[in-house]
Amino acid sequence: MNITSEIWNSPSDYLRARAPDHPVHFFAPAALQAQATRFLKGFNGLVTYAVKANPEQAVLSNLLAAGVTAFDVASPNEIRLLRELAPHAALHYNNPVRSKSEIRFAHKTGVKSYSVDGFREFSKIQDIVPASGVEISVRIKLPVSGAVYDFGSKFGATPEKVIELLRRVQAAGYIPSITFHPGTQCEDPQAWEAYITEAAAVARAAGVTIKRLNVGGGFPAKTAQGVPNLEQFFALIDSAVSKEFSTRPALVCESGRAMVAESFTHATRVKSINDNGDIFLNDGIYGGLSEFPVLDVRRSYTVLPPLGDQRSKTNRLAQVFGPTCDSLDVLPNKLSLPADIADDDYVIFQNMGAYVKGVTTDFNGYGQLETVTVLSL
Ligand SMILES: *Cc1c(COP(=O)(O)O)cnc(C)c1O
Repeated sequence: MNITSEIWNSPSDYLRARAPDHPVHFFAPAALQAQATRFLKGFNGLVTYAVKANPEQAVLSNLLAAGVTAFDVASPNEIRLLRELAPHAALHYNNPVRSKSEIRFAHKTGVKSYSVDGFREFSKIQDIVPASGVEISVRIKLPVSGAVYDFGSKFGATPEKVIELLRRVQAAGYIPSITFHPGTQCEDPQAWEAYITEAAAVARAAGVTIKRLNVGGGFPAKTAQGVPNLEQFFALIDSAVSKEFSTRPALVCESGRAMVAESFTHATRVKSINDNGDIFLNDGIYGGLSEFPVLDVRRSYTVLPPLGDQRSKTNRLAQVFGPTCDSLDVLPNKLSLPADIADDDYVIFQNMGAYVKGVTTDFNGYGQLETVTVLSL
């Protein structure tokens, strides 16, 4: 659905005025711009945004307005989206697996930075993209924990292979860089330190001076357990790079979740409560709550009854199902909800800006998701 042109004061104003029966994604542009400013001020390098976390046009436009000039893209459609909005933005194509036609498309549209984690993918790029002025970032993986979801099992080369790839990248005349991604919602800043130490060691072993070090996304967003101190992550990254590299590479980060999560809340509605007290929401794991079974990220949530109603301060633990006829469509953890929660109440989840919009399906006829702009959440 399209962004509404109206701006509402708050989610509760909208929900009470309109009583929508579909899930609503509430967006506070001011919160997004404030978070972008926090990254731009705090991170000592180029701040890019990982488009897959939330590709809504309003998100991209607000990031551009806040001063973000570079984006991590993973597909031709993400490239097209950015080229329409910001023809001159720097695009980093950091999905290390691409078809030949995807590489041709990226080259044609002026993409000058690619990540690789294998010899075959690198030679595909060599066949299509001339080396001059083009950066190849070799993606390294380590057995580092700290993230709720480890990307290393899918992407990244071992240190030995990174050494060989860096040498080939340099010999072929491309600009050599290193990239890594510690995994999403990584709450342990020492994961970055371990990666930076290893990146410096492999660059030394390869005899290659890297131009840039991309420290990935993976920065944590706020959860029910607390607000991460991003500045502490930035400071640790900066000092580890100074300590480990004799020639300091320029730094790049490509946050998705931490950039966008806190600028959206997600309102779902109680469709029905069965005779056991189980609750059926109008959204579930095939829609906006798809991360719940995969990542153990606890969000805060509140209940908003229709106008004039009050709910009890006594809570009960309730099993919560999504709306589809699939028995997998259930939240992994019970929610603590008012004992007298009723049909048509809204359950509003906080910090839902990442990985909702792009992954909502229309399974079973659901998946209608409206985005509404608000002044504050
Ligand atoms: C998904 C992804 C990101 C963003 O990760 P977050 O955990 O959302 O910050 C950054 N870089 C790459 C290569 C990715 O695949």
